[in-house]
Amino acid sequence: MSLLLRNGWIVTQNPRREILRGDILVEDGKIAGIGGVKGGADEEIDCSDCAILPGLINVHGHVANTLLRGRADDVPLEKMLEVTFAADGKLTRRDVQVGALLGCLEMLKSGTTSFVDLFYWEDEVARAVREAGIRGFLAWAVLDPDKTTQRGVPVKNAEQFVEKTKGHRLVSPMVGLQGVYACSEETYLAAKDVADREDVGLHTHLSETRTEVYEHEKGTGLRPVEWLDKIGFLGPRLSAAHCVWVTMNEVRTLAARGVSVAHCPVSNMKLASGGVAPVPEMLDAGLAVGLGTDSPISNNGLDMFSDMKVCALLHKANRWEAATMPAQKVLDLATIDAAKVLGREREIGSIEVGKRADLAVADLRHPHATPFYPANLSSHLVYACRGSDIRATIVDGVKRVGEGHLVGVDEAEVLARAREIAGELFG
Ligand SMILES: [Zn+2]
Repeated sequence: MSLLLRNGWIVTQNPRREILRGDILVEDGKIAGIGGVKGGADEEIDCSDCAILPGLINVHGHVANTLLRGRADDVPLEKMLEVTFAADGKLTRRDVQVGALLGCLEMLKSGTTSFVDLFYWEDEVARAVREAGIRGFLAWAVLDPDKTTQRGVPVKNAEQFVEKTKGHRLVSPMVGLQGVYACSEETYLAAKDVADREDVGLHTHLSETRTEVYEHEKGTGLRPVEWLDKIGFLGPRLSAAHCVWVTMNEVRTLAARGVSVAHCPVSNMKLASGGVAPVPEMLDAGLAVGLGTDSPISNNGLDMFSDMKVCALLHKANRWEAATMPAQKVLDLATIDAAKVLGREREIGSIEVGKRADLAVADLRHPHATPFYPANLSSHLVYACRGSDIRATIVDGVKRVGEGHLVGVDEAEVLARAREIAGELFG
């Protein structure tokens, strides 16, 4: 099966950040040619007046929480978690699968082709990922056994999930941890042991709020990053979400251990986490940083375009410096740098021959995107474009969105099922 994307503006995100005019040939799930492609293909997509960009990569979220969208607005994290945990007790496996599928469809329609998820019942999320045809990096959440609604021992559940799911084309299992407020030293080390043995990634919430940091310091005498370093948990396998309340010393520690960071500006702003993650300093220290939406309960969407814009604006407003977090860097955080966070930069995150064909096509013919200039298309994507501009999304060489519509999934049915479940839960 071959696919030809004809005559677009290609935002390659290659090492030279080139923007090219031309075609992209996709064969056997990979990018086989870029530029003037002669000959045809099994299917062609006309990309005139469109930008073709690498599929966006959302490095932190809880996709099944689409079902909780709008249930905890204008409250801080602690109150939001109360709502989340109360709902977790009621959700069935079928609910989680429908919620996850709804989120996958939302992401595909807004140009996201890969996402990281932290949740229990990741086997249900994996089912949704396969049905939608998106790329999922799924971290089964491990907590202390007395702090969870999971049946059985969470770390064992995570291990079984990893063993069952490893090797799938679109699903990469990981081991997740809720955070230092729900995981003891023993839990952290048991999770790390599984990840080391299975050779998979680790994902955790870290230093999201001031309360989390102060409480942990009160109990252990150490800040969360210092404590995780002391117990020997930090390492290149780990991507940590948030890292809002970290000192420069902690940034240097994260860099020295090769930890990467999932920056979630919209969620942090909505929950009033208070500080602003020191992303410019993290980048200066050499940390890999990617962009994440976090949960639809604290965002409330999964549209990476809107989060790219907020990311750029937040750091400029915070530093009184318009040159901070330029659009090109923010686009990097949602593409090639996010691929580095996942250790997959050789396969995804940019448009280069030989890489997996994860692509998004943004229509530039809308009033809000007019006029556009090819030379600064990167900043146009960050500041002017929207997720709803996506006309086509390709994952692993397969068209999942075409002419703005989902392919191979009954969107109306998924939406109806999600509304029905929300009605049962909260009606
Ligand atoms: Zn989260």
